[in-house]
Amino acid sequence: MERHTGAVDYQYLLDEAMSAARRSAGVGRVADYIPALARADPDAFGIALATVDGELYGAGAWTQPFSVQSISKLFTLALVLADGEQGIWERVGREPSGNPFNSLVQLETERGIPRNPFINAGAIVVTDKLLSLTGDAAGAVRAFLRTEADNPLVRTDPEVAASEAGHGHRNAALAHFIASHGNLVNPVEEVLAEYYAHCAIEASCRDLALAGRFLARHGLRADGSRLLSRSDAKRVNGVLLTCGTYDRGGEFAYRVGLPGKSGVGGGVLAMIPGRAAVCAWSPGLDAAGNSVGAVAALDAFTTLSGLSVF
Ligand code: GLU
Repeated sequence: MERHTGAVDYQYLLDEAMSAARRSAGVGRVADYIPALARADPDAFGIALATVDGELYGAGAWTQPFSVQSISKLFTLALVLADGEQGIWERVGREPSGNPFNSLVQLETERGIPRNPFINAGAIVVTDKLLSLTGDAAGAVRAFLRTEADNPLVRTDPEVAASEAGHGHRNAALAHFIASHGNLVNPVEEVLAEYYAHCAIEASCRDLALAGRFLARHGLRADGSRLLSRSDAKRVNGVLLTCGTYDRGGEFAYRVGLPGKSGVGGGVLAMIPGRAAVCAWSPGLDAAGNSVGAVAALDAFTTLSGLSVF
């Protein structure tokens, strides 16, 4: 139970969530379809929380960088939607796919319009748009993370990016298929290189909680400037809730009750709108690709605190 000291005791809640979920950290399989990711320490476990008004809390390995992978897709989408740009919704849908994150099947029947921006196909289209807007999609994501987290060390791990490219037949197939339907503007190879480079960004739970905070702050960045309109922040949270955790969005809503985005590096970044962003990390994944330990920690956190959107 939350201690009744008036203000919420976030440090206590994070410590308790870590101990409640400790047995789940180390469970599951570290992603190895990208060989460079297989080096991750299966027992690593951390959690961080950044409140809307600037407090920061952490427990365990909360400052240790890891491969953000699909968590980057939340930032590419937000950067594309910045300044009220809505055209992306003609090129990508907003419905859960009911299929694995790297599935090809739906693209065939849906004529190259991916189901949502968080499956690989949709994220490739969003990356293409961000590349058109900025000329450097991965650089735009890195710059955003560095600024929001106040950490100039956030970088792309070139070895992970090269490993992804070297084993990226499925992503290349998705991108070519999308291009065959006229839904990519830039050359396939350039889009894929940017996509791998933003997936291969290394950041910690601390960095990601700080960088994701704009979604808890209804679109406002750390310096108070607006990245997203209030309604776009609400909409991105909505798509995260339904599509952010691979084909387990229902289970994640049931257990955690927050909008969130997972990545195969073992991180999960979740938003408590109006209050905080919280990021947990543990590299072992379940069959859908979500971190067993990170989901267990977030489950324990929202169960103990009562802080969920439901
Ligand atoms: N870069 C990874 C891929 O394309 C991202 C996977 C993920 O985290 O969902 O397979």
